[in-house]
Amino acid sequence: MVIDVRKCNAERKYTGELHFEFAGDENLIDIPFVSFSSPVHADLRFDILEDDSVSVAGELSFSLKGACSRCLKETENSISYEAEALFVPQGKKAGDEDYTYRNGIVDLDEFLRDTVLFALPSALHCPEGCSAPEYNEE
Ligand SMILES: [Zn+2]
Repeated sequence: MVIDVRKCNAERKYTGELHFEFAGDENLIDIPFVSFSSPVHADLRFDILEDDSVSVAGELSFSLKGACSRCLKETENSISYEAEALFVPQGKKAGDEDYTYRNGIVDLDEFLRDTVLFALPSALHCPEGCSAPEYNEE
């Protein structure tokens, strides 16, 4: 998914929304016996700033299914994650956390991959809380 900054500037369209889906990369998942059970939905908004930096913010959401990390029963978790990023034209000063872009095209792939990685939990648990204290044996 890309944002064509030149085209937007030419059309004086300095802000917009992006709604799309993409397949999550299974290689990002570090939990045993867990995989994506839905595409990743992205609801993003972008703003092209006066210095041609592009700010992107919004939410990614997806579902994971697999073995609960506590009881090993099959379960499914829905995850949503708020993210924002700044894309700075190559050659201009960018902060450590910023992405750069060139030739007037913001490529969101690295940002999306990073965001999915941040959003992924370290374990999958039954939504009803299989090992919450009230369910423990006395
Ligand atoms: Zn469980």
